[in-house]
Amino acid sequence: MPVTTSIRLVAAVTLLILAELIIAHRLKIRPVGDDIEAVPPPPAGPAVWSSASFVAYGDVNLGRTVGQRILKGAVDHPFAKFDLREDSADIVFLNLESPLSDQGGETVSPKSNIVFTGPPEGARTLRNAGVTVVSTANNHALDYGVSALGETVRHLDAQNILHAGTSTSPESLFLPLLIEKNSIKIAIFAVSAFVNFNPKGWERTVAPADTGRLFPAMRAVRKSADFVLVSYHGGVEYTNAPAPATERFAAQCIDGGADIVLGHHPHVTFGVHRRGKGIVVHSLGNFIFFQPQHYWTQRSYGVRFVFEKREDSVRFRLDRFIPVKVGFQTERMTDTAQTGLLRRRTQRLSNFDITSHWK
Ligand SMILES: [Zn+2]
Repeated sequence: MPVTTSIRLVAAVTLLILAELIIAHRLKIRPVGDDIEAVPPPPAGPAVWSSASFVAYGDVNLGRTVGQRILKGAVDHPFAKFDLREDSADIVFLNLESPLSDQGGETVSPKSNIVFTGPPEGARTLRNAGVTVVSTANNHALDYGVSALGETVRHLDAQNILHAGTSTSPESLFLPLLIEKNSIKIAIFAVSAFVNFNPKGWERTVAPADTGRLFPAMRAVRKSADFVLVSYHGGVEYTNAPAPATERFAAQCIDGGADIVLGHHPHVTFGVHRRGKGIVVHSLGNFIFFQPQHYWTQRSYGVRFVFEKREDSVRFRLDRFIPVKVGFQTERMTDTAQTGLLRRRTQRLSNFDITSHWK
């Protein structure tokens, strides 16, 4: 090989090594050696930086006998044996089955015992108990007419109880209730499948279970809310499983963007179903409601959820079931045999293993 060629070759190789060294330096590629500081491994995932807890219970009737007790001054009577604060929930939800209106001392119609109202003071009952939000979309919403419905909303507002599902202005029926807790935004919609006696035009004051109106509203709020909840009042009473139409509606809600569907109206609890990332609580049963004619109308559960926000994502989880002994004065269920029965019934009707969520 001529001398000039070998010089060129050495120069080229040297240039190549120099170029590699420069690139390596620029890219901060460091050779592994003892003098290099150990770099801690990246964290497994972004930490939870905020969370909010939510507990949901079923039907509360502050009319009939309970309403009379409240009218006599025993405002806290229904919750005297049940301290909602024990659930340590940031948000407490239930379905307010009775309107709250002044009917001159009447809390049930003399003509029909399925027409009832709680007195105005019922709003204070809920506030004192620690209730945050109620659904008012149910079959009793118009038991005493549109004016009583308007009164209900006013009494709840006066006690700072949030509500969803009814309004005297039809255009705001599907405006979501947006709750923000610890920087977590939860949108709640409440709808009812029907209203007693099907009064003409009821869908103007009680949000109907109409996917054509609900879903666009859900999609619109999805942009600003971290979670979307749908409270659904409907189905067949005193049965053991959701009616096909109820099941279909709940599935459509999850597929349409809801995270959780909270069902009520059958007066007995059903199972809990996972569907994709969503959860359907098919029926929460009764919470404060005296219906001793059936075993399961007087035994139900609440469900506690935890919502979490991380750096780059949000997620929620079912935390636990809270077994309940229902009545005029609802209590926590402490009897192990009864709790076991309720747990087994719920498991049988659910589509995933709920054992670890049961306490
Ligand atoms: Zn109902």
